[in-house]
Amino acid sequence: MQRIAVVGAGISGLSHAYYLKKKFPQAHVALFNGQKPGGNIATEQHEGATLEPGPDSYLDRSGLFNQLITELDIKDKLLFEDKKSAKRYILKDGYLVAAPKSPGGFITTSLLFFPEKIRIFLAMRRKFSLWPTITLFDAARNVLGFSAAEYLASPFARGVYGSEAEDLEFSSVFPQLFGKIVAAPRLKNALKEYMLERKNFWQGELGEVKFEKGIYCFKGGMVTWVDAFVKKLQAMGVELVNEKIARVQTASGGQLQLSSKSRQFDAFDHIVSTIGTADVAYVLRDFDKELAKKVAELKHSPINVVYSGYNRKEFSYAGYGFLVPRKERASILGSIFASNVFPGRAPDDIFLTKTMISGESDLFKDAELASLAEESLARVMKVRAKPKWSRVFRHTPGIPRYAPGYGEWKRDVMALKEKHPNLHLAGWAFSGIGLADQLESGYLHARSIATK
Ligand SMILES: Cc1cc2nc3c(=O)[nH]c(=O)nc-3n(C[C@H](O)[C@H](O)[C@H](O)COP(=O)(O)OP(=O)(O)OC[C@H]3O[C@@H](n4cnc5c(N)ncnc54)[C@H](O)[C@@H]3O)c2cc1C
Repeated sequence: MQRIAVVGAGISGLSHAYYLKKKFPQAHVALFNGQKPGGNIATEQHEGATLEPGPDSYLDRSGLFNQLITELDIKDKLLFEDKKSAKRYILKDGYLVAAPKSPGGFITTSLLFFPEKIRIFLAMRRKFSLWPTITLFDAARNVLGFSAAEYLASPFARGVYGSEAEDLEFSSVFPQLFGKIVAAPRLKNALKEYMLERKNFWQGELGEVKFEKGIYCFKGGMVTWVDAFVKKLQAMGVELVNEKIARVQTASGGQLQLSSKSRQFDAFDHIVSTIGTADVAYVLRDFDKELAKKVAELKHSPINVVYSGYNRKEFSYAGYGFLVPRKERASILGSIFASNVFPGRAPDDIFLTKTMISGESDLFKDAELASLAEESLARVMKVRAKPKWSRVFRHTPGIPRYAPGYGEWKRDVMALKEKHPNLHLAGWAFSGIGLADQLESGYLHARSIATK
């Protein structure tokens, strides 16, 4: 019987274990995790509100998530973003400006000057030669113009990666799109091909999945998804092992051996690691020193989350929330109006905000980070209200940084890993930054392991 180990039970590990067991029903699949499953997903209830210290929503682009939710039997727990709150804002010159949501929105937006709108229109007919290490900021500036770099690329980078657009590598953030732009005769063709290829690929894989493209969460928070995953894995016969892996070693017959501090486990034919790079480097230290050293080189962006509950009579605002471009020099990256996005996230009289602050926070106490969020919100929203309560969460080391050089780092890691065909590296340091990337990578990895 094939023996497959998945190390780490964040959303990547859960997805890998699920799709591997689905693909190989006869195999023994074991999922190792030192702590409660879920990783960054750690929903908490506080003062009647549902708080998400990590991810709060899933953007379904392929239909894979909607298909999975049916298979996990939690469709009735699914929440779709409140369409009344769909408006996203970007801070410009101290005021909130609605972000464009469609091509038409680019014509009407006041984020861009008129000549820049013409430039974007003309850019669609041009060919662009971008180099692999170009930053997201420079790619946006070269292709779309300076204001688009300042007011679209910068807030996107800060909101999703907790990084500046100048510190992100375009070809690593959007690898497929980069390939298309470099190869296509016109930008318009590149965008069209990129979207069509993705759509056709997933339609070919999944067949006709009826779903609404957009942002999803669950009644009870994201942890509902994790709990359903765990229940399903147990029902499928996946072994859940509550042990933190301390070491990978070579076993006889080309198999790999895992051990925790207290136990050694029977050898495995495949090991899929979905843990963070510092942990990977640690567990591989004796197995392959060079690989461990290379993996450890990846940098991260620490991020802090401040939830605040305001008296709705004193402060509330319509919409999804806002992002702050670097140029605006505010201390925060942005804020989500959490009680607007999904119904029932907070008691009716509470306006709930989730504010992101970047940087090492060891020097700051919780109360100081909460004050920073409060003062920044007061300045941006031009309100005097004080929150009734605040809760602070810290993410260290934080979000893996897809900085210039990331592509080369990943190629080096994969080249060193070629010696170990039954060791697989996944998780958000390797497979893309969002939850959708983890789910899709679990699905695709299971398929590629099946063909080996
Ligand atoms: C503040 C914040 C907000 C975010 N918001 C969103 C969002 O709204 N939407 C979205 O799509 N994405 C969001 N993300 C990104 C999302 O959280 C990640 O894509 C996702 O959590 C990565 O999952 P993972 O399984 O790769 O890693 P993790 O969630 O970090 O899981 C790794 C797991 O491995 C375990 N582990 C570590 N070492 C070992 C070991 N030696 N042995 C066994 N187990 C081990 C850990 O305990 C953990 O459970 C957000 C991230 C942050 C930080």
